[in-house]
Amino acid sequence: MKGKIAIDRELCKGCTYCIISCPKGVIAVEGNFNSKGFFPAFPKDMKRCTGCALCAEMCPEIAIAVWREQPPAKKKAQKGG
Ligand code: SF4
Ligand code: SF4
Repeated sequence: MKGKIAIDRELCKGCTYCIISCPKGVIAVEGNFNSKGFFPAFPKDMKRCTGCALCAEMCPEIAIAVWREQPPAKKKAQKGG
């Protein structure tokens, strides 16, 4: 399953809970301050994201949105008449 996240860098307070909680090591800390003076988290290695949403569940600022790519729908087996 492939996933994708977006982190609102202005909501982020740099607590790193999302980084600790991500089982795939997707998230890292940015090198630049946001407007609140925190180093915000960002998706450094998005291709590893599974869309499990653990990061978003852990975020106290509700700064992370998660999308999960749906697998293609299975074709129904053709029944003979
Ligand atoms: S959705 Fe899961 S795999 Fe993707 S960044 Fe968040 S914790 Fe990591
Ligand atoms: S858990 Fe939320 S507030 Fe904490 S570093 Fe991650 S995105 Fe920022």
